Amino acid sequence: MAFLLSNLKSLQQELSAQNVTLVAVSKTKPNKDILEAYNSGVADFGENFVQELLLKYESLPKDIRWHFIGHLQSNKVKYIVPFVHLIHGVDSERLLAEINKQAAKAGLQVNCLLQVHIAEEETKFGFYSTELNAVKFDQYKNVHISGLMGMASFSNDENKIRNEFKKLKSAFDQLKTEHSSFSILSMGMSADYKVAIQEGSNMIRIGSLIFGERN
Ligand SMILES: *Cc1c(COP(=O)(O)O)cnc(C)c1O
Repeated sequence: MAFLLSNLKSLQQELSAQNVTLVAVSKTKPNKDILEAYNSGVADFGENFVQELLLKYESLPKDIRWHFIGHLQSNKVKYIVPFVHLIHGVDSERLLAEINKQAAKAGLQVNCLLQVHIAEEETKFGFYSTELNAVKFDQYKNVHISGLMGMASFSNDENKIRNEFKKLKSAFDQLKTEHSSFSILSMGMSADYKVAIQEGSNMIRIGSLIFGERN
């Protein structure tokens, strides 16, 4: 399916009144679709696969802010650290330690979000909210832990989704009182972003609504 400019325009209009950053999720989509969104004012793009992100980073405008939103393997951290704007899916201290190590080597501070497990599904990665207080925030000098990210259950039950987002927002609010670096709450995708914004999201990750269904 083709790039959906009219959807993008109405989304941008909807968000303009709110303090919410749009990350256009461009995984599997060609550079020409990304450029079209870029030329319509999108500055932030999200990718799930390191190899694909590297190819796109090489050939697209250098002022694009690239978000890594997939499951990041430790051995691939070094490839994206030099240019990535924000890593959303940090789901273990082992990964935090590796990002810290590679960022220190590159002389950088890398922005990260801790991914929190809020859905019922077994397959979703992330910290459990009860584990967040044990994260050794001060130990990673080259990581800027900017907030939290989460994915709600894949469900038609709006109440269930809303409750999962509420849980994430409350974990965010609690940690924010202790960590001045906290400012970003990344929650909401094509199917549930309206509920996410109602529940306090300030960054949404939208793919299919902008670029059409993925194969
Ligand atoms: C693919 C993906 C999205 C975008 O999903 P859509 O339903 O197409 O909007 C958002 N967040 C993550 C983590 C993803 O993997």
